[in-house]
Amino acid sequence: MTGHAVVIAGGGPTGQMLAGELALAGVDVAIVERRASQDLDGSRAGGLHSRTIEVLDQRGIAGRFLAEGQAMQVAGFAGIPLDISDFPTRHNYGLALELNQLTAACARVLMTRCLRLAAW
Ligand SMILES: Cc1cc2nc3c(=O)[nH]c(=O)nc-3n(C[C@H](O)[C@H](O)[C@H](O)COP(=O)(O)OP(=O)(O)OC[C@H]3O[C@@H](n4cnc5c(N)ncnc54)[C@H](O)[C@@H]3O)c2cc1C
Repeated sequence: MTGHAVVIAGGGPTGQMLAGELALAGVDVAIVERRASQDLDGSRAGGLHSRTIEVLDQRGIAGRFLAEGQAMQVAGFAGIPLDISDFPTRHNYGLALELNQLTAACARVLMTRCLRLAAW
């Protein structure tokens, strides 16, 4: 791993998105992951909120995630559900998507990006 400009410890959603951003910027980046497979030991995420979907949309990849989960009203505060369907955004909803699906979706998007970068 000494031959890369950046080495990211952890191939969860954060590490994979960071790697994708760095790769798009032309940075030579590698991810090291201690899990031997993509199997996760339990889930720590149940979906994405509106703002995250907006950010993914800015990168043109929101559709890849929306296709894997279920769009629904997920926002809430102190146990009180909030309906944001009248908010002025293209993504006035959340996305139900378990962490293992989220991590796998990130991996597929990252793979596509890397293949695209390699083809340039
Ligand atoms: C109880 C609980 C509930 C949660 N619910 C939600 C939710 O509903 N929605 C939500 O968006 N978020 C939720 N979260 C936060 C959730 O953990 C994050 O959204 C998401 O998992 C963060 O991704 P990540 O890549 O930062 O971390 P992780 O998904 O934890 O990924 C980190 C990766 O790094 C690897 N790693 C760690 N140390 C090393 C090392 N030294 N070397 C190599 N690899 C390493 C791990 O194996 C893992 O694959 C919850 C968290 C907890 C604890």
